[in-house]
Amino acid sequence: MDLFEYQARDLFAKHDVPVLAGEVIDTPEAARAATERLGGKSVVKAQVKVGGRGKAGGVKLAATADEAVARATDILGMDIKGHTVHKVMIAETAPEILEEYYVSFLLDRANRTFLSIASVEGGMEIEEVAATRPEAVAKIAIDAIDGVDEAKAREIVEAAKFPAEVADKVVNVLITLWDTFIKSDALLVEVNPLAKVASGDVIALDGKVSLDDNAEFRHDWDELHDKAAANPLEAAAKEKNLNYVKLDGEVGIIGNGAGLVMSTLDVVAYAGENHGNVKPANFLDIGGGASAQVMANGLEIILGDPDVKSVFVNVFGGITACDEVANGIVQALKLLEDRGENVSKPLVVRLDGNNAELGRQILTDANHPLVQRVDTMDGAADKAAELAHAAK
Ligand code: GDP
Ligand code: MN
Repeated sequence: MDLFEYQARDLFAKHDVPVLAGEVIDTPEAARAATERLGGKSVVKAQVKVGGRGKAGGVKLAATADEAVARATDILGMDIKGHTVHKVMIAETAPEILEEYYVSFLLDRANRTFLSIASVEGGMEIEEVAATRPEAVAKIAIDAIDGVDEAKAREIVEAAKFPAEVADKVVNVLITLWDTFIKSDALLVEVNPLAKVASGDVIALDGKVSLDDNAEFRHDWDELHDKAAANPLEAAAKEKNLNYVKLDGEVGIIGNGAGLVMSTLDVVAYAGENHGNVKPANFLDIGGGASAQVMANGLEIILGDPDVKSVFVNVFGGITACDEVANGIVQALKLLEDRGENVSKPLVVRLDGNNAELGRQILTDANHPLVQRVDTMDGAADKAAELAHAAK
């Protein structure tokens, strides 16, 4: 999960990374009181999860509270690289900025380690610097066990050639930023610019944080989720503990096992090439021991997706044998119909593996008007694609 800048700011503050005061608002008029609380001037900053806001006109200084309202009016609703601005941060203005640096910690998957990237040439042109003068950007591997202590922080400061007069302050930023990175289970913490201001202080003026979703069970991240941006089907699936990802095609997919579902997406996309280019509408893995209730939950989400024109249920019986899955499908359809759900989309079911024959017989006997049995994966994908195309 990527955080908004204001959330990164709050997280930094919690771990003693030096930041400036700031609060998030979503109406232009609220910029007035917020700016007054900061002493009558502020920086108005678009909150979007994309870089380059400054260049796009999403970061503006306001010398008065009136000006802050005017800038917030300009920025709210603005489109920055396809992201609409719904919130702005009203931040304390930095004292005169003398220099802009770049520092970050991230997970370096290719090298199976953590990595620090640092440069004294930070600011809005950092991508350009990294591309044209890579020697101006220091990259230092960090041992996951040892982490960043003072000695390691000094090594980074030296490698990136930070000026002597800010060395101690940057060391402090690196240590507190590492603390943020580790304690928050982050995959990335980035500060750009890390600004040296007139007073000699070094302050994180902008922050980018990406948290590791797999660690959410260890944290209280409810508040951090961007409910406005969440897909409603994904939110409903999450509530039911389903592994569901919305995609943009027309063939609903249910399978057991992530690998099987991934390959189902491939065969459906391939089959779709012969049927008007229909594509998978979602990823949904109901897992190994799926009960009728789980099947019903999955079907409910998929049938509730207006983009879905047909459904492909692809099951390889293992721990849960095919006869149980077949009963699950039959019961799930009945459960949804009893609940008054509009069950009207065709289902193509492929069962193979443990007790396949028994499972197929159960479907045949149930003789549900919407369910078709196709016993091979490719054949079933083709049938589901054909039905989706016909219903489009
Ligand atoms: P980004 O373009 O999305 O990375 O947004 P930043 O938050 O990094 O802001 C872009 C630029 O605006 C920075 O590089 C700074 O030069 C400038 N900036 C940000 N905050 C302040 C501030 O408080 N005062 C002044 N004078 N400039 C600021
Ligand atoms: Mn920035």
